[in-house]
Amino acid sequence: MVIKNQQDSSPSQWPETAQTLLALMHAQGEVARLSEREQLFRTLLVSVNAVLWAFNWETRQVLYVSPAYERIFGRSADLLLSDYNQWRDSIYPDDLEYAERSLADVLEKGAIENREYRIIAADGQVRWLSDKCFINRQAEPGQPVIIVGIAEDITDKKQMETELQRLATTDALTQSSNRRHFFESAHQEFEKALQQGTPLSFLMLDIDDFKVINDTYGHQEGDTVLQRIAESGRAALRRGDLFGRIGGEEFAAVFPGCTPDMALQVAERLQREIQRLSFKHDGQTFGITVSQGLTSLIAGDENVDSLFARADAAMYQAKREGKNRIVPA
Ligand code: GH3
Ligand code: MG
Ligand code: MG
Repeated sequence: MVIKNQQDSSPSQWPETAQTLLALMHAQGEVARLSEREQLFRTLLVSVNAVLWAFNWETRQVLYVSPAYERIFGRSADLLLSDYNQWRDSIYPDDLEYAERSLADVLEKGAIENREYRIIAADGQVRWLSDKCFINRQAEPGQPVIIVGIAEDITDKKQMETELQRLATTDALTQSSNRRHFFESAHQEFEKALQQGTPLSFLMLDIDDFKVINDTYGHQEGDTVLQRIAESGRAALRRGDLFGRIGGEEFAAVFPGCTPDMALQVAERLQREIQRLSFKHDGQTFGITVSQGLTSLIAGDENVDSLFARADAAMYQAKREGKNRIVPA
């Protein structure tokens, strides 16, 4: 009201009380705006499902951590603020070295955006984090280096990626490697064997008279046979061996580091396992046999296809010789 009664409306001309009042109102508005902002940030920080953090590199002190820390890590934020080791202690032991090294890398690179590691939450659950970090660019020279970061729980995304990877590499019926994945892995093992000068064997396996099995007992029973053969294959193999379904009723295996004699022993064990399998259908019991072709890496082999071709030819020879046998090539 006082203001309105003034002739000259320029604030510098107003009486002192009005000036004070105006300053007060301005300050109050400012305070209200600030507290509104603070409230907004607080709401954001509470609702965002990511841990925002700030870290003093020199003193190894966590300066700030947002509320999601307690949710994701299941640990007290106060404890972390007083002891940085709380964070280190949460990290999955296999990932600790990487997590620390990549944090140190930020000093040189300014930003590390593809940093992922696992933590063990207080409830014992393993969680995957994407923990991006950045150097605080506003720091003046001579000021302490502050690293700020945002750690997001990406466990669900990781699980989905693993599942997609599994779906893309396995055969849905038998859960063995599919043809593409088998040959990709076989190719890698072949290259390794060439470089290291170590032995490597390749096995082809084809079910005998499988068409008759399908025709006699039905396609579904045929599928069960395929599943049981795949189980036998996996059981006969050692760690590091590859096994895959490379066609309808054809399987293949690669034995890295395996001499021809050892590979033959594995093939014989598998042959016996499969002969022992017994299937029941409508009161009838039946068994199955397979033919196998086996070969090993020799001088002059340029790629895994040479071994595949030899093992395949040996397998067809086994068929011609009366099936239910192993032919080494
Ligand atoms: P051989 O002893 O000479 O190998 O004779 P075979 O009958 O096993 O060979 P053939 O190639 O004539 O037949 C293969 C059969 O495998 C034909 C096809 O219907 C069957 N088959 C291929 N894929 C599947 C499958 O996913 N499930 C089932 N049940 N049968 C399949
Ligand atoms: Mg076949
Ligand atoms: Mg067959």
